Amino acid sequence: MKARARALALALAAAPALASAAQLELEATLDPAGGALRARAVLVVGRAAAEISLAARFAVDAVALDGRRDELAGTLRDGLHVWRLPAADRERRVEIAWHGALDPLDETLSHRDTLGHARAVAGARGSFLPGAARWHPVLGEALEGYRVTIDVPEGQRALVAGRLLDERVSGGRYRARFAYPHPALDIDLIAGPYRIEDREVRTAAGSAVRLRTYFHPEIAPLGPGYLDAVLGYLDRYEAWIGAYPHTEFSVVSSPTPTGFGMPSLTYLGIDVLRLPFIRFTSLGHEVLHNWWGNGVHVDPAQGNWSEGLTTFMADYRYQEERGAQAARDLRLAWLRDFAALPPGEDRPLAQFVARHHGASQIVGYHKAAMTFFMLRELIGAQAFDAGLREFWRAQRFRAASWGDLQRAFEQAARRDLSAFFAQWLERTGAPALRLVEARAQQDGASWRITATLAQDAVPYRLRVPLVVRTDEGAHTELVDVQSARESVAFRTTARPRALELDPELRLFRRLAPGEAPPILRQAMLDPATAVVLVCGGDAARAARAVAGRVLEHAPQVHAAATELPAVPVLAIGLAAEVDAWLAQQGLAPRPPEVAAQGSAQAWAATRRDGRALMVVSARDAAALEALARPLPHYGRQSWIAFEGAKAVARGVWPSVPQRVRLD
Ligand SMILES: [Zn+2]
Repeated sequence: MKARARALALALAAAPALASAAQLELEATLDPAGGALRARAVLVVGRAAAEISLAARFAVDAVALDGRRDELAGTLRDGLHVWRLPAADRERRVEIAWHGALDPLDETLSHRDTLGHARAVAGARGSFLPGAARWHPVLGEALEGYRVTIDVPEGQRALVAGRLLDERVSGGRYRARFAYPHPALDIDLIAGPYRIEDREVRTAAGSAVRLRTYFHPEIAPLGPGYLDAVLGYLDRYEAWIGAYPHTEFSVVSSPTPTGFGMPSLTYLGIDVLRLPFIRFTSLGHEVLHNWWGNGVHVDPAQGNWSEGLTTFMADYRYQEERGAQAARDLRLAWLRDFAALPPGEDRPLAQFVARHHGASQIVGYHKAAMTFFMLRELIGAQAFDAGLREFWRAQRFRAASWGDLQRAFEQAARRDLSAFFAQWLERTGAPALRLVEARAQQDGASWRITATLAQDAVPYRLRVPLVVRTDEGAHTELVDVQSARESVAFRTTARPRALELDPELRLFRRLAPGEAPPILRQAMLDPATAVVLVCGGDAARAARAVAGRVLEHAPQVHAAATELPAVPVLAIGLAAEVDAWLAQQGLAPRPPEVAAQGSAQAWAATRRDGRALMVVSARDAAALEALARPLPHYGRQSWIAFEGAKAVARGVWPSVPQRVRLD
């Protein structure tokens, strides 16, 4: 979700003490069906030189400086009306009135489209006016707060982030007033044909909060369930971090597949809100962004910590509560995704700013979440939670960096964490840890175990869990390593049978081949992946369409008869020809999981040279064509079978830990 808070954080980072007292008061009348906006605003500007801008698509009706018209001349620049104010010895009051047409709402947009666009759109089914589209005059610095009055036709409801002061319906219009008392750069306005579910609650910690859903009529019955869930998250995170910083929280439906989090609200697509699991997963993530990201802002010059911390305290935490197996499964999924990252796509965590594609999510969300997991392992849950609370107390509504987080945790844990943060934030990649050898020797009533661990030339400092399997069960030894090759020794009283390296995957590391079974995403993400067509005619046309959907780049296409290229390969064809081609190339035959299932199958394998192979096999051209759309969504699988466009079976090859037998 969201990449909206960046400019504000920049403004906060530049002026953390908020020298100005800039305020904005705005009145907007919106006609969604006609796409018309008419508005006026009063900006109170501090004494420093300032610049005010508004999208040039709007006609400016009037401008006044301190009550005098025509004192302030504007210019046009880069698609904006721009007004400049020189420094002065007192605050200024600038009034601007404007009107204009908005773009019509396009319900066919994808989430990726809506993320990239700062366009104000309006329609009877929904209007979204992001502040970044400059639909209202914007000052180049953070406001200390704003007040907004919105006026829409009776059948519509509208809102902005902040406290709802009052609302009424009269004369065929709905009018609502909002006030936001915290730093903000600009205002996002949302309207739609909403049914409102409203509940005034007191959280377990005692905060008075007004909860609302603004839902389209077709999903209005889901409102009460969402409000129950929101209250649960407010209680959870208030107890964990500190008081919720706003007086409202609203869940607002969007006719496009959006996922945005703003202070005090989240704006999610109707189809997303309909999914029954969203209130147990994404909703909690979005609520938590009121603390991380929209409460403490990210100082973008120093990397985005908020997605990783939010993922750890929401998505990961919910799995942990389901049980140890669910938590391990999520860590394995993250590590496998990382192992599937093509060389050159990896970046140090400190450079992650916002999510653009799969690779940045793997580092910015998953590696970061795993870093918080390892930190909690290192300093203990009590110090970890104390650090979080101190960070929140000190940084609320400021722009904070990884360095600020590190200081808060160091204070709570009373230890230096610079080596920990430096290696996980500044280094690319991950340790490739190997269990080289291990031995057990009986020594009186106990056994002495020695083991050798190895990692790359520039080693990480790690606390490595080694699991000893004995006749009386398993136990974990934590050993500290910091050299490229390290011998460790410890004792056990039960007869040891085997030693395993981090089988629970509690370290962020590059999994060994057996630990990271191949998944489809490896070939899909790699920009070097070439396509081999194992068919002709109509099937070849369908195969090219599949390749176009599955790969994120335009691939080199080879014929089946040629030698296998020395890059990752996506082979696509009809079943009998695919089987013959695998045999002729000396590749492993079709696995039993995908032998006799469905009209088409795909599976991932590793070639003898270590390069990735993805095979897509179908009964006929129509079966190939049918999987072009669904297949890209299953990158985390090792194998999958389709009947037409429907996935009927799928799975991941098992992960086998590094293990040395001791008996
Ligand atoms: Zn997020």
